[in-house]
Amino acid sequence: AKRDGRNTYRFFSPDMQAAVEAHARLDSELRAALENNAFRLHYQPQVDSRGQVTGGEALIRWFDPSGKPVPPSEFIPLAEESGMIIPIGQWVLRRACEQLAHWQSAPKTRTLKLAVNISARQFLHPKFVLETSATIEASGIDPAGLKLELTESAFLRDPEKTVARMDELRRLGVGLSLDDFGTGYSSLSYLKHLPFDQLKIDQSFVRDMLTDHSSMAIVRAIIAMSQSLELEVIAEGVETEAQRNALETLGCRFYQGYLFGHPMDIDQWPGAEPT
Ligand code: C2E
Ligand code: CA
Ligand code: CA
Ligand code: CA
Repeated sequence: AKRDGRNTYRFFSPDMQAAVEAHARLDSELRAALENNAFRLHYQPQVDSRGQVTGGEALIRWFDPSGKPVPPSEFIPLAEESGMIIPIGQWVLRRACEQLAHWQSAPKTRTLKLAVNISARQFLHPKFVLETSATIEASGIDPAGLKLELTESAFLRDPEKTVARMDELRRLGVGLSLDDFGTGYSSLSYLKHLPFDQLKIDQSFVRDMLTDHSSMAIVRAIIAMSQSLELEVIAEGVETEAQRNALETLGCRFYQGYLFGHPMDIDQWPGAEPT
């Protein structure tokens, strides 16, 4: 047994061992966070070309046991790997639908749309459509106010299943947005066969478009293509007036980014009534 033990660990350097342990710790902290209701959603406004808020994107927030915020870019990939993204994603969707129901119940916020990020593994889970449908029912929302943001990673994993699933979701009445557009393997031609309502221009192109010719060219091409496919297009990561104006000149009419508002707690939301 001793020898087995030594053999088992022979290939792990102390660094790797530490990484494995950190991984396991984060995983059990995520489980605890879900049980203790330690996740929050923040909401970032999306606006039209007149600056009117049309809705927002829900973004998960987690404060670890010491109270330190852990960025989603650190724990979402791990949650995808471990499968914890399934219960976490269900929580996000439930919470987002509750908020949307609240918006839809008041005249001033009735038409706001809420976008929710769905990771590839969550999207491809066999029960995803069933559970999404149950969540919509339970919250009583008009599903037209809900928009699911997918990334191309879902298509890479399983193109056929992805398309079938998108059709099922469309039949539930929700909108579908293709997030981080331009960063993946997007053969632009496949888009016309997919039931998306919206393309989201990735923030890296918006960030660089005024200083880098190829980023500008990509943004221009995405907007032109979305117009010819009659897809709505929204730019994310808009931080300056100059970026906003350049996007508008190219024909983009919807924006999201720090220029219009950071992700915020719901009681900071413009015009929010105390709940
Ligand atoms: P994403 O879906 O591309 O979300 C946009 C990210 O850009 C958010 O980071 C947002 O805070 C940030 N952002 C917004 N405006 C600006 C801007 O003007 N400038 C810059 N530099 N950044 C801006 P965040 O909240 O840290 O989320 C990172 C990623 O984590 C998200 O990227 C998404 O992939 C994932 N994520 C967040 N919440 C969820 C969730 O509930 N479920 C899933 N599956 N993934 C989530
Ligand atoms: Ca997103
Ligand atoms: Ca994005
Ligand atoms: Ca992103």
